[in-house]
Amino acid sequence: MAFKKGDLILKSEPYAYVLCSEFRGLYCDHCLKKHQELHKCTQCLFSFYCNKNCQKSAWLDHKQECLNLKRRRPARPTDFVRLIARIIYKLKTLTLPDKYEEIGNIKRGFEDLMSHVELIKNDPLRLNQYHVISKLIADFVTPDVLPSNQELFEIFGKITINSYSICDIEMVNIGVGLYLGASMFDHSCRPTATIVFEGPTLFLKAVVGISQLSTTKVFISYLDLLASTYERKRDLKAQYYFDCMCATCKDEEKDLITSSILCPNTNCSQPTVMKKDSFLCIECGEVKLEKTKQQEISELIENCKKVNEEMMQLQKLNKYQEIYDKADDSIQKAKSVLHIFNVHYVRVLDFAFDACINLSKWETACNLGKQILKSYRYHYGNSHPNYGIHLLKLGKILLYLEKLLEAEHILLEASTVIKITHTPTHQLHTICHELLSQCQMELQLK
Ligand SMILES: [Zn+2]
Ligand SMILES: [Zn+2]
Ligand SMILES: [Zn+2]
Ligand SMILES: [Zn+2]
Repeated sequence: MAFKKGDLILKSEPYAYVLCSEFRGLYCDHCLKKHQELHKCTQCLFSFYCNKNCQKSAWLDHKQECLNLKRRRPARPTDFVRLIARIIYKLKTLTLPDKYEEIGNIKRGFEDLMSHVELIKNDPLRLNQYHVISKLIADFVTPDVLPSNQELFEIFGKITINSYSICDIEMVNIGVGLYLGASMFDHSCRPTATIVFEGPTLFLKAVVGISQLSTTKVFISYLDLLASTYERKRDLKAQYYFDCMCATCKDEEKDLITSSILCPNTNCSQPTVMKKDSFLCIECGEVKLEKTKQQEISELIENCKKVNEEMMQLQKLNKYQEIYDKADDSIQKAKSVLHIFNVHYVRVLDFAFDACINLSKWETACNLGKQILKSYRYHYGNSHPNYGIHLLKLGKILLYLEKLLEAEHILLEASTVIKITHTPTHQLHTICHELLSQCQMELQLK
């Protein structure tokens, strides 16, 4: 079966999933929707639900966990321990046909997942993580279901290699789940399909034409594409134990752009890359820059990396003013040197953009948003959920600032992207449609 750009390839329900602890009490543990008033499970006092319906639907998966949580109170298991425990109980209780997921004419069960146990045995960091987790599991589940050490190691490997982060509508990772069907697809840094979620349900959508449903045609990205080849390869190796050999990873020219600088010719806006000892502009060819410039560029890039790490920590604490100050300081230093396609630099802008939204600095957010947009289009391509969501955020800001024509243009583009990347029932469509209607109405009143 062939798929056109925007077609749904697969809808996959999770084999097991959990809401991440940091969002407990903010999102429903069952449907993963954000809710103002959630009701606590009166037994374990741990899980939260929208209503009786969600609680009832969750009960089959929560029943045993609830007892374990109650018994261990006030100790709280980690998300990973809860996910493993849920899977252990699933493996004991699931009967046919729920054990399998069908994808075309392929049937996949938990036993079909890759575990890479041999590779994990040679990875001291992972192995150590396993030792910690196995103790926590033994302490959390009841002895009657506790797998042997070998079985548990296998389960641990399968979940480590195959689980997905579950994102909310703004692409924030709020949960983690295992999907038997979706986990059969391999990674590429130039994916042919993308994943979005509605609650815990996973949807796989084609972002280019795909001739058939097979693992040689459908590729998804396991990580954020806004990264250098070195970073992507390093992270894929550490998390999934493979060396990415995709076309993007072999494209040296494209990789140089991820650390590019501004062209010294003031009327040129193209990125300039450092190749051996010379500087090459995509547009102007070889350009003259002083040797000392190299040192300055490296220092600026290193500074962006350092600041990004710091801002990541501050973001967890919602310290937006501090993030903004740090980002702004870094931007002032780098803006006359680094190009917007430089991934380390655009990440700084991204933090600043997000901080501005939270601090209601709309004009600054608008300017940053426009710059980021160009970089996103280059790195993610125009059929990526992150690109669509960024357009939507920018459109909303433009609308708020009453820059109506620009807002309409951006929101129309957002609508086109979201149609490709998201399902027709996705909440993002409604949000986009409402913003666009409001914008067009205000334009008519002018
Ligand atoms: Zn719910
Ligand atoms: Zn409970
Ligand atoms: Zn790659
Ligand atoms: Zn140039």
